[in-house]
Amino acid sequence: MIEYTLSEIATIVHGKLVDHTGFSDQKIKQIVTDSRTFFKGENALFFALTGPRNNGHKYISNLEKKGLNAFVVSDASSITPDAAFIQVEDTTKALQHLAEYHRKKFQYPVVGITGSNGKTIVKEWLHELLSEEFRIVRSPKSYNSQIGVPLSVLLMDNHFNLGILEAGISKSEEMKKLAPIIQPEIGILTNIGDAHQENFQSKQQKTEEKLLLFSKAKKLVFCVDDKNTTPLVQAFCKSHGVEAVSWTRQNNKALIQFTTYQENGNTTLEARISEKKYHFKIPFTDASSVENACHCFATAWILSENTEKILSRFGQLAPVAMRLEIKQGINNCLLINDYYNSDLASLSIALSVLHQQAKKGHKKKQVILSDIQQTGIPEDELYRQVNHLLQRWEIDRLVGIGPKISAHQDAFSLQKAFYPSTEDFEQEFLRTRFSDSIILIKGARAFTFEKISSLLQQKAHQTVLEIDLNALVHNLNIFRGLLHPSTKTMVMVKAFSYGTGDVEIAKLLQFQNVDYLAVAVADEGVELRQAGIQIPLIVMNPEEHSFQHIIDYRLEPNIYSIKLLEAFEEAVDRNALQQFPIHLKLETGMNRLGFKTEEEIESILSSLEQNNRLKIVSVFSHLATSDDPTFDDFTHEQFQRFDVLSDKIISRLPYKIDRHILNSSGIERFPGKQMEMVRLGIGLYGVSVTGLPLQNISTFKSIISQIKKLKPGETVGYSRKGQIERETEIAVVPVGYADGLDRKLGNSNGEAYLKGQRVPVIGNICMDMLMLDVTDLKAQPGDSVEFFGPHISISEVAQKTATIPYEVLTGISQRVKRVYLHE
Ligand SMILES: *Cc1c(COP(=O)(O)O)cnc(C)c1O
Repeated sequence: MIEYTLSEIATIVHGKLVDHTGFSDQKIKQIVTDSRTFFKGENALFFALTGPRNNGHKYISNLEKKGLNAFVVSDASSITPDAAFIQVEDTTKALQHLAEYHRKKFQYPVVGITGSNGKTIVKEWLHELLSEEFRIVRSPKSYNSQIGVPLSVLLMDNHFNLGILEAGISKSEEMKKLAPIIQPEIGILTNIGDAHQENFQSKQQKTEEKLLLFSKAKKLVFCVDDKNTTPLVQAFCKSHGVEAVSWTRQNNKALIQFTTYQENGNTTLEARISEKKYHFKIPFTDASSVENACHCFATAWILSENTEKILSRFGQLAPVAMRLEIKQGINNCLLINDYYNSDLASLSIALSVLHQQAKKGHKKKQVILSDIQQTGIPEDELYRQVNHLLQRWEIDRLVGIGPKISAHQDAFSLQKAFYPSTEDFEQEFLRTRFSDSIILIKGARAFTFEKISSLLQQKAHQTVLEIDLNALVHNLNIFRGLLHPSTKTMVMVKAFSYGTGDVEIAKLLQFQNVDYLAVAVADEGVELRQAGIQIPLIVMNPEEHSFQHIIDYRLEPNIYSIKLLEAFEEAVDRNALQQFPIHLKLETGMNRLGFKTEEEIESILSSLEQNNRLKIVSVFSHLATSDDPTFDDFTHEQFQRFDVLSDKIISRLPYKIDRHILNSSGIERFPGKQMEMVRLGIGLYGVSVTGLPLQNISTFKSIISQIKKLKPGETVGYSRKGQIERETEIAVVPVGYADGLDRKLGNSNGEAYLKGQRVPVIGNICMDMLMLDVTDLKAQPGDSVEFFGPHISISEVAQKTATIPYEVLTGISQRVKRVYLHE
């Protein structure tokens, strides 16, 4: 942790201190770059970073209200008399300068890792392997960007004696900035794949850029088996005086020769360094795990006094989980399972997710936390810091599990309970202790907190729709990339966000700063407001009986007829309100709802001009066929009609009115028509008409409940539709048409993905069950089965059932539990 005063920081970053408050002597202990993750706490300094789509200066006044009183800014106009400011030219550079300065204060070795894949895993594994010998500071999760690297380096202090930091770049010139911040003594180049290739001319250029991290390193670990990049790496080592710690699995010339063989899910490795041989085993067989283990061995061999001692620990390496999982729990609880290794930095991140997902109905915030292992910080100091974090995020109750956290229970000043082990917790578990709460479950792996999470989990049946929230953000950003920075985004969260969920999705979108959310009816909007959604919400289909709700909950109605306009105006009048925001829908070709003629528009305008009750925030229309090039002429006519009608309104009213007409496929195909806002729907949920690199966000899956062996002549299911012609093994899966899987997928039309293969549905699909032909697959009860997701696209399912992806997604029944994954 850092401890500089504000005036010291001003000097370090070459900034101008503007302070009328006398804060400049306060010691800064916390650096904030993302206003959304700051909740409260003293001694924090906010860097107002600016990027193409966001500007940290926007959040300063809000942060001041939360009690933050020190800021680094580049825009002098955001300086106020109530806080202390450091004014600099470039806030990102200032953060990097501070980290570079901080780095120089420590003499202990730092391992710097870069490459296209495996950085985070190699970092986490090295931490596992070396943490008995070293007190290690490392990058939290995959903090490896222009911002993430400085934040990681600022975690360094004298408690530690080894740093392991990763660096990632996506374009040239970036590594030049990261190298002096990390200053690695030992480098690891994991591998150079094709990821992020778009901003580099060639793989060679990308390699050269990455190597810049190691210009001043003493040693570099790399694999010589890639013929394309190895000559470059070797030449680099020569010209920079870096000692090559090269390795090979293919008998190439290298310092370390590895031979491997695989058996029963394990890989046994032999490492030969001149005459000396080392043997160890890892519980993986896939190529990337083996490669990552080789990098770890080479690095551990350099660093450790006693390589032999470390070998046995390779056998205990586990996959690195980088995900939080959000699930419904018992008694109206929401569970956040964090399978990431337990440490202070990741605890802090998980607490911010807890804060972000907490709903009004959650009367309590609880944290179940194990001993925090291997931090390098003395224990009393460590648990004092944990207490501080829990206080800062206003956690109500802590359940501590493990001998160490129990021994330090006096450090905690909140409601608390302690158990020596997970088993003790299980034995004394009382369901009633956990109700109406949001609960973070975070434990080091040895504590097997999966057991706790299964106690607290709602007993759902095994069929789930798994929603990948990171993929959703990825898709949002792909669409944002097609828009001008100033264009607003409205996201359609109607129909349970196309079947994916309501509050969880809305919360995430609010966090991602989308401008508007659109729901179908007022009740959906009320629910979101009650759950803490504050951004503008538009109701597409406002019904008269819901007007009072619309007004009370600050929802904004879509007005599509004179009758509706007049009725709503009356409702606003009854509430003695003025300038209530509304949106006008224009009819340009869909022939559904909206104002179609100039006469109609004339009469709205004269009605609006008579009083001041309503204010048109936006006018919009909807395209009937934006996805289909054969009707582009028609779409252009829609654009034209929209221009004429919207101009008429805009030119008559004295204030600014936004216009919008594009839906997802419209954004893809007619970005020139984005105007002031767009309305994003199906694209966010992973479906593109032009082949954008979207990610799949929802996986519909279940598990096998039973396997049966059948003989020729037998039949499967209703009406004896599944005819058995050879010795057949079938799997029974608890998914039926009542879960939303279309009955048309029966009788070999539909497929499921299981154990790396596609298998056909055999016979008719039943209400709650179906059967799959799994002959020769050696499938077992409990094996996971996918119906759509990464291996079978929603579009494919739609095609087979003669419908559109929208219907497939929204058709998944509400009884199917939604499970959310979050990095
Ligand atoms: C549902 C809806 C959208 C979103 O359409 P997608 O094709 O899913 O992008 C846009 N505008 C209106 C009015 C809608 O009802």
